[in-house]
Parts: sequence; C-alpha cells; structure tokens
Amino acid sequence: MVHRVIPLLDQRNHATQALRSATPVDGPLLDTLHRPLHDLRISVTDRCNFRCSYCMPKAVFDKDYPYLPHSALLSFEEITRVARVAVAQGVRKIRLTGGEPLLRKNIEVLVAQLAALRTPDGQPLDLTLTTNGALLARKAQALKDAGLQRLTVSLDGLDDRIFRQMNDVDFPVRDVLDGLDAAHRAGLAHIKVNMVVQRGTNDHEILPMARHFKGSGNTLRFIEYMDVGATNGWRMDQVVPSREVLQTLQTEWALRPLAPAAPGETAQRWAYADGSGEIGLISSVTQAFCADCSRARLSTDGKLYLCLFATQGHDLRSLLRGDASEDQLAGALQHIWQGRSDRYSALRAALPFETGTGAKRVEMSYIGG
Ligand code: SAM
Ligand code: SF4
Ligand code: SF4
Repeated sequence: MVHRVIPLLDQRNHATQALRSATPVDGPLLDTLHRPLHDLRISVTDRCNFRCSYCMPKAVFDKDYPYLPHSALLSFEEITRVARVAVAQGVRKIRLTGGEPLLRKNIEVLVAQLAALRTPDGQPLDLTLTTNGALLARKAQALKDAGLQRLTVSLDGLDDRIFRQMNDVDFPVRDVLDGLDAAHRAGLAHIKVNMVVQRGTNDHEILPMARHFKGSGNTLRFIEYMDVGATNGWRMDQVVPSREVLQTLQTEWALRPLAPAAPGETAQRWAYADGSGEIGLISSVTQAFCADCSRARLSTDGKLYLCLFATQGHDLRSLLRGDASEDQLAGALQHIWQGRSDRYSALRAALPFETGTGAKRVEMSYIGG
C-alpha cells in the first residue's frame, strides 16, 4: 500500500498548536512504528560557504535565494530549551548541522550550553557536529574547549580539481585536510569523514580516499547519493550502491563486517582485517534503515521534522516564543513523536520521485543532514 505522507503531517501540525501537558510515559517514548526518539539533529543555519551540487546547487542557491532572516532563527537559548525537553523525552545524541554550522556566529557558545545538559540519570549527551571543514582549522580548539566530543567532516575526494568542482566555490582540499589536522591536535578523537559518492563524478576517488584515511584514526564513511530536497536533479543512475563500494574496496583489502555500535546506527561498519581501522557504508537509497530510525530534525527556524524527506515540520518556535511552559513543550513533543509514521526510504520504491512528494520536499541545508 502506498502511504500518503502529506495529509497525515498536516493533521499533526495542527494538533501541535493545541497545548497539552506531558503525560508520564511508561518506558521510552515511541512512535507508531515503535521507534524511540533517540537522536536530534539541529540545523543552526540554512546558509553555507559551499555550493555542493547535490545539496545547494549554485543555480538555485544564488544571491536572490530567500535565506531566513536572523529574527527567524532559533536563538541558542531556544535551541537549548528544545534540547533539554528532548533529552528528558529520551534523546541521547545531538548533532549540530546545517547549512554549514561553523558559519553560525559563536557556535561554540551553543556547544557549551548543550554540553552542560544531562540525561535523567546524570549522563552527558553524545554531542557531535557535521561540518564541511572549511573553517575547522580556526574553530577546532574552541569547539573542543566548549565540550564537543565528536566530529564529522564531509570530504568528497582528494583530487583537488574534482573537489573544487564539487564544492563549486573553488575551495581547496588542502584547507579541509588542515582542518582535520587541527581537530586532531585539539584532541577531538574518533573523527568521521563523510564522502557522498556520485557515479561519474567522484567514484574514482573511493580507493584514494580509503588509502589516505586507512590507519589515520579517522573513519571514512561512504554515503549513497540521496534524492533529498527538490533541487539537486537526482537520478538513480548517479547512485553508487554501497555493495559496489565494498567490492571496490575489497579489490585492495580484506574487510570483515562489524556489529553496529548502537541501535539505529545508519552506517554498516566494516573493519580492515589487518587491524588498521574501519570504514562505514551508509546505504540510504539501496537499503532503507527506516525500521530503526530514531532521528528528529530541528530546522533553523524551529520546525521539527520527523523524516529527512518530510514535506512539513511541526512549528515549535511559536510555542517557544509564546507562553508555553516546559511541561507543555514536552507535551507537544510527545504528541508529535507518538503520531510519527514516516518511513520514506522504505517506501521509496512504491513512491517514485516523479509522482511522490519530491517537488515539495524541504532542502537538506535547512533541516540538516
Ligand atoms: N555543511 C555541513 C557538511 O557538509 O558537512 C553539514 C550539513 S550537510 C547537509 C550534512 C551531510 O549531508 C554532509 O555530509 C553532506 O555530504 C550530506 N549530503 C548533502 N546532500 C546529500 C545528498 N543529496 N545525498 C547524500 N548526502 C548528502
Ligand atoms: Fe554546504 Fe554541506 Fe550542503 Fe555542501 S553538503 S552545500 S557543505 S550544507
Ligand atoms: Fe528516517 Fe526518513 Fe531516512 Fe527513513 S527516510 S531513515 S524515516 S529519515
């Protein structure tokens, strides 16, 4: 059966407006498919200093693009308030993203506020950030000092010509690598490097990237190019399935599968048999991981999205800027999550791009990757 996503979200959107108190939940807060709310991704800006063609193509994201005005952005205090409520409802992992999160002024102040949050049993959160690395050399130490524990750096290749072409702002690979070095020096351990693989564009960079990062302490993760947003002109023939990436890697190294580090983990992990580290495969297109998806996304202007491919979010900003109490915010969050049924990737085959919700999907730079 084909699920129509839009009307369902519409109803839930309205329901959010009715303020209600939180009710004690017996066990974890679950959605309609029994998935807990575990991860919160927070987009701190819809702007970026890159124009990756698969995310913010220059032709669309030009000087006339209607980026959000500053007044529309959630303040650090508003973000922290949502995060605090979400943590009380089960969130254990927070990822700051964007757009390019390091463009948000004083981002380390937000990191410090989030790092101070504690779970109901007194544990710190798993707090991480995804960046294109352009400003990392300048920011790494401040982020570490503010309490950031982990980091993901996106890098689509080592070939400088291809990389400059992919970021479309002529940004050199060297500066991202310098950012990675600075992050290591600052003491940010377990850095992940994300490479979106596009057939015919950077698939020849799979082996050079693996050679470079093998044994470096950074975990390279290959991501299937996804049909997110409505502007990147995605085509299935541009996707390099993870199994093909694995076969390519196996031409050079023996690899063995590893068990997931945590439930709901997006990457399949493989270890180099010689003990020199691991790689990750994120098969968002060919092997849907909706069944375990425990992620919610908070957009730059305070809407909560329950799926990367959602067409509408739930407006939390109006609650934050209204007179909603902490308890009412928790009640809204409970209600939103308990009504969640999203599983776009699992339904992708039945809901093709041409006839599906593609034209109305929100951009990844706005809700955060
Ligand atoms: N600007 C930061 C960066 O690039 O790391 C954070 C935001 S970006 C939207 C988050 C992640 O989404 C990046 O690793 C990026 O490569 C990935 N991404 C963006 N568009 C994608 C697409 N169409 N398919 C797969 N991954 C994508
Ligand atoms: Fe910017 Fe990240 Fe999107 Fe590239 S993937 S355009 S760096 S937000
Ligand atoms: Fe989660 Fe939506 Fe992605 Fe499925 S398609 S894994 S529900 S974000």
